[in-house]
Amino acid sequence: MDRGGIWERAIKVVDEALFPSGIYCISCGSLIDGTRPYSLCDKCIREFHWINGRRCRKCGKALQDTYKGQLCYDCMAYPHYFDKGYSCMTYGLKERELLLDYKYNGKSYLGKKFGDILYDRMSCENIDADVIIPVPIHRRRERKRGYNQSALMAESLAKKMEKPFLGDAVVRTRETALLRSLSPVERESALRGAFAVCSGALEKVYNKKVLLIDDIYTTGSTADSCSKTLLEAGAEAVLLLTLASGGNKKPVQYVYDSGL
Ligand SMILES: [Zn+2]
Ligand SMILES: [Zn+2]
Repeated sequence: MDRGGIWERAIKVVDEALFPSGIYCISCGSLIDGTRPYSLCDKCIREFHWINGRRCRKCGKALQDTYKGQLCYDCMAYPHYFDKGYSCMTYGLKERELLLDYKYNGKSYLGKKFGDILYDRMSCENIDADVIIPVPIHRRRERKRGYNQSALMAESLAKKMEKPFLGDAVVRTRETALLRSLSPVERESALRGAFAVCSGALEKVYNKKVLLIDDIYTTGSTADSCSKTLLEAGAEAVLLLTLASGGNKKPVQYVYDSGL
C-alpha cells in the first residue's frame, strides 16, 4: 500500500475544498466569478504568454517577430520523429509557477483547466486525431506524486473531444536522470528504450493518428522518444500537443567535461 499516494490525494481533496477552482484565479488566487475562462482572472490571462503569433512549422513553439526562419533553432538543428507539434503558451515565470504548483504541490484539479486550454488550441488549429495518449512518467514517480500531470490534462481533453483516451498505452520502462544538462545526442541515448507500447494497446495504436500530450516542450527529446516508440508500433502519425514550450533560443554549445 502506498501511503504517500493516499496522503497526497487527501491533501488534494482538502485543497480543492478550501480553494475550489472556479472561485479563485488558479494563478494569483484572487476572487473571480465562475465564468472566467480557465479560472484565470483578467489580469493573469493577459499576462500569460499565449502563442498566437508566428510559430515554428514543426514543433509549434513561438518565434520572435524579427526571426527570419520558418523553423525554430532547435528544429533546424535536429530532426523530430513526431509529425507536427502544437503548443499553447511560452514557458515564462508565470507559466512556470503554475505548472510547478500543478506538478509538485498536488494541485491535480488544474488538470481539468489545462485540458480546456488544450481543447481550445486543438479546435482553433483544427487538429484531428483518432486517439489521445499522454507522455508517461515512470510508475515510481507517478506513485510518489499521486498522478501523471500529462495524463490528467490529456484525459480531460479526450473527454471534450469525445476521442479514446489511452492512458496506459505507453509506459516508461525506466527512470531517466535529468536531461537538462545533456547534449541532444546524449539525451537521445539516455532515452533510448525508455518507452514501450503495452502489448494490449498495440492494436489500439496500429494505423491510428495519435495525439500525444505533454505538459512542457523544450528540445523535444522526450516527446521524440515517445513518438518514435509509437511509430515503430505502427501508429500512422503522431501529433504533439503541449501546454507550454520554451522560447526560441540558439542551441547552447555543450561543453564536454573530460573528467580530467
Ligand atoms: Zn489571477
Ligand atoms: Zn521548432
